[in-house]
Amino acid sequence: MTDTLVFYSGPDPFEPWRDALAPLLGDDVRIERAEAVTDPATVRYALVWMPPEGFFDRFPNLELVINLGAGVDRLVARDDLPDVPITRLSDPQMGRMMAGYVMFAVLRHARDIPHFEAAQARCEWAYRHPRAASDVTVAVLGLGELGAMAATEIARLGYDTHGWATRPRDLPGVTVHHGDEALTRLLSGADITVCMLPLTPATRHRLATKEFAAMKPGAAFVNVSRGEVVDQDALVDALRSGHLSGATLDVFDGEPLDAAHPLWTLPGVLITPHLASVALPASAAPQIAANILAIRSGEAVGQQVSRLRGY
Ligand code: NDP
Repeated sequence: MTDTLVFYSGPDPFEPWRDALAPLLGDDVRIERAEAVTDPATVRYALVWMPPEGFFDRFPNLELVINLGAGVDRLVARDDLPDVPITRLSDPQMGRMMAGYVMFAVLRHARDIPHFEAAQARCEWAYRHPRAASDVTVAVLGLGELGAMAATEIARLGYDTHGWATRPRDLPGVTVHHGDEALTRLLSGADITVCMLPLTPATRHRLATKEFAAMKPGAAFVNVSRGEVVDQDALVDALRSGHLSGATLDVFDGEPLDAAHPLWTLPGVLITPHLASVALPASAAPQIAANILAIRSGEAVGQQVSRLRGY
């Protein structure tokens, strides 16, 4: 019998995913966009990014839900999620795209680019002596698939690189800290803090007034994970007071960011519309296909998400 893989995503076009997956799945799995499914009973696999409420109710025979992205917070928080394995994308190309953005953001602050952009707007030659990379301390919060790759690349650029996770681990060139008590100390020593924590019940507003106050005067903040990990009002206060010198922000508590939001106009702040990294069909398709084929042959899937931990 031919099973169906149903596809749903607002931002991702269907055709590249179908074209990348079809040769890997063969004739036994039909790939259809959600609105084209005529026989919902044949749908056993769902490849989805933020499907609408009630989406899963249509498909009573689901055996696998694949999150079309790395961050699963929107998916695991739903109460209509079927009781089947949930997997997420774990794709080195996606990791490279993210690491590229994070390196750009770290270099932006380490090389005082906001200072020069502001000076240029005044047509002013405002020399500021560069710091050696080894004199700049960078803290990466979250050392998962994406966080670990970004931290390793920052370390390779020569920055004094520290990381933070729930558990200790070895990462080349990176001093790893773990546990709640370590966070304040880590933040107080960092010139640049990069947030790469998943959004879970334990990390919601994990960076708030106390954590921003703990950061060095003049430090910079980068957020590429989820806006809700940060108390956005506390971030605005820390930037407005000048305690933080700037921020590079790709994610927000409330997207798209409201046109009247103060973050748009605060000095030293760069805003990008949630695109630090995206799912790439050519490189992610083999992993998706392997998990579908694993389910078909009764084997365990990879990249499974823990509903309990939320990541
Ligand atoms: P992973 O799920 O692989 O790893 C999460 C990391 O965070 C782990 O190191 C984990 O620790 C750590 N962590 C989780 N909870 C805590 C906590 N309470 N305290 C301390 N550390 C914690 O995530 P990825 O690296 O793959 O991705 C990170 C996030 O990036 C995603 O969740 C997503 O939100 C975001 N993202 C953003 C994109 C964008 O375009 N802006 C694109 C793709 C993803 P441990 O290792 O000990 O388990």
